[in-house]
Amino acid sequence: MPKRLQTYETPEITVTFDPNVCIHSGVCVRGLRAVFDVRRRDWVHPDAAPAADVAAQIRRCPSGALQYAWAPGHEPPDDGATSPPSET
Ligand code: SF4
Repeated sequence: MPKRLQTYETPEITVTFDPNVCIHSGVCVRGLRAVFDVRRRDWVHPDAAPAADVAAQIRRCPSGALQYAWAPGHEPPDDGATSPPSET
């Protein structure tokens, strides 16, 4: 049975994690340990770092399991890689 899509929100950014897609590379955990910590049950804390840093780290996820979307009015002008969370 597919695992549930996880959603983590701050006023600036919404982060989603699809456990069915993750290849457990560890890139997220090594890159931004305060935000991504698998020892926690709710393992993504997007409020633990600036939203731009969270977005930059998510763009390094090799599988696409992590996605993000800016809250309206919070999109940085230089974030060309913004993409909405996948619905699949
Ligand atoms: S970087 Fe992406 S693929 Fe790697 S462990 Fe994190 S969520 Fe999974």
